[in-house]
Amino acid sequence: MSTPTLSTNPLYAISYLPAFDRMTPEHAETALRAHLAEAEAVVAQLEELATPTWQGLMDPLYRACYPLYSAWGLVGHLLSVMNSDAWRKAHDLLQPELVSFGLRVAQSPRLYQRYLELRATDRATPLLTGPQRRILESTIRSAEQAGVGLSGEPRQRFNAIQQELATLSTAFSNHLLDAVKAYSLWIRDPADLDGLPSAWRAAAAQAAKEAGEPAATAEQGPWRATLDAPVLVPFLKHARCRRLREELYRAHVTRASSGELDNSSLLERTLALRREMAGLLGYPTYAHLSLTRKMAPGIEAVDQLTADLAAAAQAPARRDNAELLAFARSNGFAESELAPWDYAFWSERLREQRYAYSEEELRAYFPFPRVLDGLFALSERLFGIRVQAADGEAPVWHPDVRFFRVLANDGTPLASFYLDPYSRPATKRGGAWMNEFRTRDRLPDGALRLPVAVLVCNQTLPTPTQPSLMRFDEVTTLFHEFGHSLQHMLTTVEEPEASGINNVEWDAVELASQFMENWCYERATLQGLSQHVETGAALPEELFARILAAKNYRAAPDLLRQLFLGTVDMELHARYPGALGADAEAVKRAVAARLLPVPLLPEDRFLCGFSHIFAGGYAAGYYSYKWAEVLAADAFAAFEEAGLHDEAAVAATGRRYRDTILALGGGTHPMEVFQAFRSRPPQVAALLRHAGLAG
Ligand SMILES: [Zn+2]
Repeated sequence: MSTPTLSTNPLYAISYLPAFDRMTPEHAETALRAHLAEAEAVVAQLEELATPTWQGLMDPLYRACYPLYSAWGLVGHLLSVMNSDAWRKAHDLLQPELVSFGLRVAQSPRLYQRYLELRATDRATPLLTGPQRRILESTIRSAEQAGVGLSGEPRQRFNAIQQELATLSTAFSNHLLDAVKAYSLWIRDPADLDGLPSAWRAAAAQAAKEAGEPAATAEQGPWRATLDAPVLVPFLKHARCRRLREELYRAHVTRASSGELDNSSLLERTLALRREMAGLLGYPTYAHLSLTRKMAPGIEAVDQLTADLAAAAQAPARRDNAELLAFARSNGFAESELAPWDYAFWSERLREQRYAYSEEELRAYFPFPRVLDGLFALSERLFGIRVQAADGEAPVWHPDVRFFRVLANDGTPLASFYLDPYSRPATKRGGAWMNEFRTRDRLPDGALRLPVAVLVCNQTLPTPTQPSLMRFDEVTTLFHEFGHSLQHMLTTVEEPEASGINNVEWDAVELASQFMENWCYERATLQGLSQHVETGAALPEELFARILAAKNYRAAPDLLRQLFLGTVDMELHARYPGALGADAEAVKRAVAARLLPVPLLPEDRFLCGFSHIFAGGYAAGYYSYKWAEVLAADAFAAFEEAGLHDEAAVAATGRRYRDTILALGGGTHPMEVFQAFRSRPPQVAALLRHAGLAG
């Protein structure tokens, strides 16, 4: 039932291209409450359903919840790009209701019974499509992992564990935040700031002002260094004062590890509860539970990936470090070994000496309009699509936002997307991301709804006389997010819950995005998206060579660090307590001894700050970063093998990529999808070769 006010509420009556020009925070509460009530009514009906079928159960359930989640997605989107107190209030007010509705559906024993009946029917006489079966299986798994199969004592215990884990995760990140906030390193002697850029001095003086030194200035101090990454990282890279680097480094690797903010018992408790929870749900370990939602077939496959990459990186990492020590010693470093707080500093000096290019010099070659043209031309060349600007054809939330349509070569519409390119620090969340407003969907009346994606970046602003001149990392970021969008827009799956980026396993999601990044290092592609903003000159060969070299600078030690983090995570969730140790610190030390070229400090307690796995979603999943990178490099290698200069081969390989990796989305298992593209399982060789670590 829609009242007159509801029917004009743009978060209730959501148009295909949402009416961003009319949405206000005041619409949120009324619209969301109405959606909730309507969804709840359908869910209650479906719980009583006699004979579950896809059309009778799964499809109506999705369609009942869709308006609610769609509206909620729009609220989240506006909160990220047009943040205001009013949007935040609307969001915070409604969030608990959304969470309880989600749990209520996932934990409904009646719905769970209906799913199982549908599965049994399909097993007796197959009637579901492949994508439908995958959706049903992940729905059943989510319900089971939400505890729906438990009753009595185990159910109570499960709920108590869930509560405690949520509390522990919040406490872990609060401790970490508070520990970072509580720490200050006061610097009063300007000589101690030797080497630091002026922007750093200004920020540190500002931090001093805020901490009770109102007279602090960028030139005269005092300055306050903190453990915030934007302060800490440049300090370790640039400060000549070794004593202060050491002090800051030691504070960083021991943060949240003592006193009231000590995270060590919290993390042990978290690991124990995860083990217990996995046991209640019938999994041997928490890692087994986590891997049910991943592409990796098992813990051994992750171990194997680590072993293959580590074997290739170990000798080059030792060589890189020996070379760095020699460089440092020939530049006045008097010790016999580099300490942990010396690596960032000396590798920056060596990088400057070898590969220095000025960011300003490079940016002049990447005017935003040229980069976009190059990106679209590449997509056309690879996938046979056309991207057309369609500004003004859709309402937008900010005047900078662009709108584009994507067509097949014969002009058939395929999808559309928004691009919100520029930084707006006061109202827009940092970083870059891709999201969806619509997913490809065959509606019950037979009509096809096409996908709508959104790309958000935070790149350099244009000036009145010049377009946005992009830093090189902004270019690769744009390619990354466009890769996600392509997977969403070029899907051929018509079951919305498995189309585009939906229902793709966590460790496979970054394949399509990282694949696109590879093209930024390909000579011809880079030529096509660069041109000097004033002279129109092509990117000089010498600058290209430096970009390539800088990409792989110290790749081996960086790779080992990532493998170390991934392995500690996996050991703690798969084999702990066990052979490597009876406390998490011992496990960490054992893994470090195996993988890291430089030993950790005896007092290192970085686990107390490892929020990815203790307060984020990465538990038994940190390896996903490398896993997806391997897939992306191996997919790119298919183009290299076909011949990057052979247009027919590139087009044929691109078509195959589009028809498999981009088309099949979450409707097919990613290993099957990858093999359909590559005609074999993924291999690590391409990643190693691209990183300069082969043979
Ligand atoms: Zn991504």
